[in-house]
Amino acid sequence: MFSKILIANRGEIACRVAATARRLGVRTVAVYSDADANAKHVAACDEAVHIGGSAPKQSYLQWERIIDAARATGAQAIHPGYGFLSENEAFADACAKAGLVFIGPPSSAIQAMGLKAESKRLMEQAGVPLVPGYHGEDQDPALLQREADRIGYPVLIKASAGGGGKGMRAVEKAEDFAAALASCKREAINSFGSDAVLVEKYVQRPRHIEIQVFGDTHGDCVYLFERDCSVQRRHQKVLEEAPAPGMTPELRQQMGEAAVAAAKAVNYVGAGTVEFIVEQPGGYDHPEQMRFYFMEMNTRLQVEHPVTEAITGLDLVEWQLRVASGEKLPLQQHELRMQGHAIEARICAENPDNNFLPATGRLDVYRKPAHVAFERGAIRFDDGVREGDVISPFYDSMVAKLIVHGATRAEALARLDAALAQTRIVGLATNVQFLRHVVRSGAFSSARLDTALIPREAEALFNQDPVGRTLAVAAAVAQTLVHEKAGEGADPFSRTDGWRPFGLTQRRFDFEYQGDALTAQLTYGHGGALQLAVGDADAVLSFQAQPADSGTVVDLQYNGQRQTVQCWQLGESVHLFCDRGATVITELDALAHAGETAAEGGRLTAPMPGKVVSFAVKAGDTVRKGQPLAVMEAMKMEHTIAAPADGTVAELLFAPGDQVAEGAELLKLAVATA
Ligand code: ADP
Ligand code: ADP
Ligand code: MG
Repeated sequence: MFSKILIANRGEIACRVAATARRLGVRTVAVYSDADANAKHVAACDEAVHIGGSAPKQSYLQWERIIDAARATGAQAIHPGYGFLSENEAFADACAKAGLVFIGPPSSAIQAMGLKAESKRLMEQAGVPLVPGYHGEDQDPALLQREADRIGYPVLIKASAGGGGKGMRAVEKAEDFAAALASCKREAINSFGSDAVLVEKYVQRPRHIEIQVFGDTHGDCVYLFERDCSVQRRHQKVLEEAPAPGMTPELRQQMGEAAVAAAKAVNYVGAGTVEFIVEQPGGYDHPEQMRFYFMEMNTRLQVEHPVTEAITGLDLVEWQLRVASGEKLPLQQHELRMQGHAIEARICAENPDNNFLPATGRLDVYRKPAHVAFERGAIRFDDGVREGDVISPFYDSMVAKLIVHGATRAEALARLDAALAQTRIVGLATNVQFLRHVVRSGAFSSARLDTALIPREAEALFNQDPVGRTLAVAAAVAQTLVHEKAGEGADPFSRTDGWRPFGLTQRRFDFEYQGDALTAQLTYGHGGALQLAVGDADAVLSFQAQPADSGTVVDLQYNGQRQTVQCWQLGESVHLFCDRGATVITELDALAHAGETAAEGGRLTAPMPGKVVSFAVKAGDTVRKGQPLAVMEAMKMEHTIAAPADGTVAELLFAPGDQVAEGAELLKLAVATA
């Protein structure tokens, strides 16, 4: 075993690797960028080396500096984590040249699996089933069109060098092929530096099921069962689970053996994942009819590896370190067992109701689930941040991973929902509440899985109000009264009912809730009773409140219902968390806000720092409200900026490829006056 390793990554995966290293008595070296000078992963390691500026190109992708750091600190091996340099064969070679062990597969295996088209040709030879398609070298557009016609529509055009869900275009009919090909090639050359594509059958309502494989330097390779990663947004995973619902032992064995054959075909060593697209011709109720096809191999540890760890009881990073230091695989195929069911949820800084636009900001409140796991190992929370840390625009938007394990899928689901309810983040938008909606949706809870689950269930997932406006208003009013009372220096917490500030019998509150303005009328009655009218509904309100966790816990009773609500105030917004869900309500100072909405009309600014990818319009174009105007890229995602109103494009203020700051005006739009 190594005595010291360098971790060439950041965030949760750097912390994750460091934890296993520490348990094994292996010393760790972190590397960090300017933005990460005080990051959790730096604190998680024994030593740390600064390697450059905040942008990945200036630091986490600077492999000469990383190799220098390993040498200077006496590290014997480098763990690349995922992303960044993990699938970079030149980096793997450079490590070897510098006398360092790259904790991953040989560079030849990375290369062989690096391009989707080439890897498919290899897999074809190894007898691994492929989606019907064309993955040849000849890129003549007429030939590609003929191939698409032969395959039959719909087809999917994929950038061979693509990844992260980018560089894909589904084409419904022959007439659309040429335009989709041109646009796919444009994106591919911009994002991946190569415009080679492949064309394959677009599988309808498929599942994404992948197999974890592990090889060693003694020629052995095993599979550690499957993960179902069908729940996706923008072709990126959101929820992952193991085992795959409905999987039969026969299919598991076939897929496992196909994955091992794929790995062996490239002399694979270490942790890898073979991704399959799975057709369900018999629908959700006939999983025995599922047919699987090789999609790609990821030659690294994957984000979702903890669900495999949960069902096998193994530590895959420990396996990586053992295999990289030359040991044999700790277990053979027949010794591997799985137990129970595990689900992972990716908690991301993003706004699901705004097309999953990534969010940046400070984790003002960051509370993890604490009391929901009574069994050891039932809940795991992997992250690389602490309360007060900033989610910056330089890296991706994943904040944490919540992994639950249960004896059955139903038990795991219940635990996940409870743990999400106790995950409380204030300061920036996250998908936590959205994840709860997915977990509770009929489709997910009954395992009717396919990659279109989120769009299919959209109505139940987006723009939901889990809390209800009466409760939201009641909690916000209670929170305001508590604050005011505290400000007066009196002890607001000794009374168990409401109280009556002198001189007032009625009071008006104005809120914005879920995009609507709301007025609430509070009436103080006899004996401290409070009557609250929200819109035209009356609620009788009483509450107890106490400070907790830097916020306030309000125990509310209204209309005969009881709810405990945790509140945190940030500026004028009160963030509310209760068993039903999480929401935000904003108190409006009616005078200060008059006229503000009118001014917002034609502003077209960058929602975050990033790069302008393209404009869909030019100066002089007339546009309709909601029409796409420009595409920006930030935090590894593309965002479409739409017209806020009908109008005419007056001027484009940037060119494709330009870096822009948050709030920079992208184009001028003359808003049409009705
Ligand atoms: P997986 O295939 O392991 O499920 P993805 O394909 O979504 O996950 O990508 C792996 C992860 O690598 C991302 O979620 C992200 O955290 C990280 N990553 C990849 N590239 C970058 C990058 N350029 N900058 C920051 N993080 C990156
Ligand atoms: P990436 O490198 O971006 O992860 P993949 O080839 O793994 O690209 O595909 C990502 C996702 O796109 C899959 O998980 C699946 O949801 C969808 N997908 C890929 N190929 C097909 C296909 N032939 N038919 C339907 N969906 C597909
Ligand atoms: Mg993939």
